[in-house]
Amino acid sequence: MSKPKVVILGAGYGGLVTAIRLQKLIKADEVEVTLVNKHDYHYMTTHLHMPAAGTDHHENARVAIKDLIDERKIHFIKATVQQIVPEEKKVILPDEVLTYDYLVVGLGSETETFGIPGLREYAMTINSINSVRFIRQHTQYMFAKYKLDSKHKDYLTIVVGGAGFTGTEFVGELADRIPDLCQMFDVDPSLVQIINIEASPTALPPGLPNDLVEYGMDVMRRKGVQYKLSTAIKACEPGGVLLGDGQFIPAGTVIWSGGVRGNSLLQDAGFHVQRGRVKVDDYLRSLQFPDVFITGDCSIVMSPEGTPYPANAQIAVQQGCNTAKNLFYSLRGKPLRPFAYDYKGTVASLGRGEAIGILKVKKVKGRLAAFLKKIIDARYLFLIGGIPLIFKKMIFKQKQTT
Ligand code: FAD
Ligand code: NAD
Repeated sequence: MSKPKVVILGAGYGGLVTAIRLQKLIKADEVEVTLVNKHDYHYMTTHLHMPAAGTDHHENARVAIKDLIDERKIHFIKATVQQIVPEEKKVILPDEVLTYDYLVVGLGSETETFGIPGLREYAMTINSINSVRFIRQHTQYMFAKYKLDSKHKDYLTIVVGGAGFTGTEFVGELADRIPDLCQMFDVDPSLVQIINIEASPTALPPGLPNDLVEYGMDVMRRKGVQYKLSTAIKACEPGGVLLGDGQFIPAGTVIWSGGVRGNSLLQDAGFHVQRGRVKVDDYLRSLQFPDVFITGDCSIVMSPEGTPYPANAQIAVQQGCNTAKNLFYSLRGKPLRPFAYDYKGTVASLGRGEAIGILKVKKVKGRLAAFLKKIIDARYLFLIGGIPLIFKKMIFKQKQTT
C-alpha cells in the first residue's frame, strides 16, 4: 500500500513550524512529507526592518531549511509553486507535479497596493531577504548619488508610506542608521528627511492604547522622523509621491508599507477569499476542501467576538503547531483538535533600545519593551532550532560592515 502524502507549501512561520512539529510526531516510513519553498532558507519577517535599514546583517534574519528539518522524514523541494489544483489534489511546480492526500498552504502574504498607480513599479517593500537587501543598497546608493549631484537634496529624502507596525519599525531603525550613513558619505544630517505618510489620523495600528501611540510617535519625532497624518499616497512616480491633498513630495527612496493581502495562488485556485485570505474551519481547514489546511497570512481565523484575528507571526506559529497535530490525527484516523488562539501580546520595535507593546493586557514601553522583543525573537529561534540557533543568530551573529 502506498504511503499517505502530505505536502506543505511555504516554509514561513506557519509552514515551517508545521513541518518541524510533524517530523517529531511521525515515523520516517509511515508518511511521505514534502515541504516546498521558494528559497532554501527560512526568513524571519519580524527581523527584516533591521537589514532593510542596514542596522543588522540580513544573514541574521534567515536560516537554511536543511538545518531545521529532519531530511529522513521531510523531503524539501526548493521551487516556486505555480498553481494549486484542489479538485485534483495537485500542486504544480515548474518542473514537476505533486499529488497529496493532505495539503498545508502557508504561502504568506503579498503587498496590498489598493491599485495605487506606480507603487508596484517605483516603491520598494519590506517583505523578503532580497527586498530588504535592495532597500539597504538603494538608500546607500542615493547618498552616494547626492555627493555627485548636490543640487538634488531630494536624493536624501526617504518616504515611507503607511505607519502601521511595519512602517513604524522600519522608520525607527532607519533613523538610527542615518548618522552612520551621513558619516560614511560626509553628508550634513540636517539635509536628510524621513517622512512617514499615514492615511489615518495617528501612526501605529488602531486599537493600541493612546498613550503608547503617543509615546511611539514622540520617540520617532525625537529621532527626526516627520509624520504626515490623515494623508493618503495617491500615486508613486519615479521621483517621489503624490498625496491626496495634491502635494508632490520629491524623494529618492520610497518604501511602501501600506498593508498586505493573502497569496494570490489561493484565489487563482478557486478558494473563496477576502483580501486574498481564506476563512477556515475550527481545525484550520478550508471550508471548500477539507483536506487543505491553511495557516498564517493566507488564513482568516475568527475570534469569539466574530472579528478576524490580525495576521501575525504569533498566530501563524500556533497554527503550525495545531496543524502538525491535526495532520498526525488525520493520518491515525483520530478526532481533530480545534484551534484556539492564545494571544500573548504584541511588541513593536521603535529602533535601538526602544519599543512599545502589550503583554496580554499590560502595557510596556522603552527598554523593557525592547528587551521583551529580543526575548520573543529568542523564543522563536529556540522553537525552530534550539539553543544553538539562538547563539548563531543573536549572540555570535554576523556583523553588518558597510
Ligand atoms: P511567511 O512567514 O511570509 O512565509 C511564507 C513563505 O512562503 C515564505 O518562505 C515564502 O518565501 C514562501 N512562498 C511564498 N510564495 C511562494 C511560492 N509561490 N512558492 C513557494 N514558496 C513561496 N508579526 C508578528 O507577530 N511580530 C512581528 O514583529 C512582525 N514583524 C513583521 C515585520 C515585517 C517587516 C513584516 C512584513 C511582517 C511582520 N509580522 C510580524 C507579520 C508576520 O511576519 C506574518 O504574519 C507572518 O510572516 C505570516 O507567516 P506565514 O507563515 O503566513 O508567511
Ligand atoms: P497594516 O495594514 O497594519 O498597516 C498599513 C498602514 O498603511 C495602515 O496604518 C494604513 O492606514 C496605511 N495606509 C494604507 N493605505 C495608505 C495610503 N494610500 N497612504 C498612506 N497610508 C496608507 O500593515 P503592516 O504594518 O505591514 O502590518 C501587516 C501585518 O503584520 C499586521 O497584521 C501587523 O500587525 C503585522 N506586523 C506586526 C509587527 C509586530 O507585531 N511587531 C510588525 C510588523 C507587522
